[in-house]
Amino acid sequence: MSKDFYKILGVKRDASQDEIKRSYRKLALKFHPDKNKDTEKKFKEITEAYNTLSSEKKRAEYDRPSGQQNFEDIFGGFSDLFRGTGFDPFESSKNRRQKTRADVKNGDVLAQISIDIEDVVYGCNKKVKIVHHMFCQVCKGKGYPENSPPAECPQCDGHGRINIRKGFMSITQTCPQCEGIGVVVVEPCMSCMGMGCTREVDVITVKVPKHIKEGTRLRVSGMGDRVNPRRPAGDAYVHVGFKNHDIFERKGLNLYTELEIPFSLAVLGGKTSVETIWGRETIQVKAGTQCSDVVKLIGKGVPAKRDQIGNLFINMLIEVPKNPSDQLIELAKELENHGA
Ligand SMILES: [Zn+2]
Ligand SMILES: [Zn+2]
Repeated sequence: MSKDFYKILGVKRDASQDEIKRSYRKLALKFHPDKNKDTEKKFKEITEAYNTLSSEKKRAEYDRPSGQQNFEDIFGGFSDLFRGTGFDPFESSKNRRQKTRADVKNGDVLAQISIDIEDVVYGCNKKVKIVHHMFCQVCKGKGYPENSPPAECPQCDGHGRINIRKGFMSITQTCPQCEGIGVVVVEPCMSCMGMGCTREVDVITVKVPKHIKEGTRLRVSGMGDRVNPRRPAGDAYVHVGFKNHDIFERKGLNLYTELEIPFSLAVLGGKTSVETIWGRETIQVKAGTQCSDVVKLIGKGVPAKRDQIGNLFINMLIEVPKNPSDQLIELAKELENHGA
């Protein structure tokens, strides 16, 4: 900043428009060139200061590149580059007046596992791969080595803004070289290629509670990103999906399966065993069971919270021997005679 307009007008940086006006009037009367030719330079200076500070727009513009009042804005451009990574190498230089939620911790990450529906019954421990970003150990997340700090931007001399002439107009815009922060990295950290963080894969074991609902996200505290060493690590959220089952079809909490029983069992009735996600169960087959009869096992479906449990529906199929023995053929002929 070449001139301090506030100092010239003798007002504080947070002076109101009234104070600025009053101070200007007083100084203008004192230094008016009509009264004293020697004060012409001083008078021009006061007027220049007043012209800028009396316009809210010009005043805001003037305040910005100073790097004192509006640090947040200056670093804003650079922060944008890193938005989403949770990484901001210039954070320590920022004015931390207000902490927003995003400032509190590093970013969260999402991981995924699929479990067998049998595991819903009793719960399980599952290995899960977590991909997260960690701050570079070499440069401590800064993106540049300790002995080569960022230098003042050569294009804007550290102001973060440059003036471009377009015809008669002069337009101020964000410096394209430093993105408005006023400094540029001279020599990026070779370990992280200047990113300040590295991608890492960790395999951890998560405890999946029993009776979990499909699509639940389990939170693993502190296993998210840690690209900013000054903030706590983010969390990992593990999405729990259910695998398709080889023998059970799932509709909501209910399960559907098929069971082949021998012809004799269908005719005579009796006990047989059937696989369920809860273990093997003995079922009673009633005499004269027909093909496609359905046996319902209450409470042998998928369990959920609050004592909700689905049912298991078994579609009965009747086995017909493919290569019947001579004895079986004789018996079948006998049955034929009885109209079966
Ligand atoms: Zn610049
Ligand atoms: Zn590094």
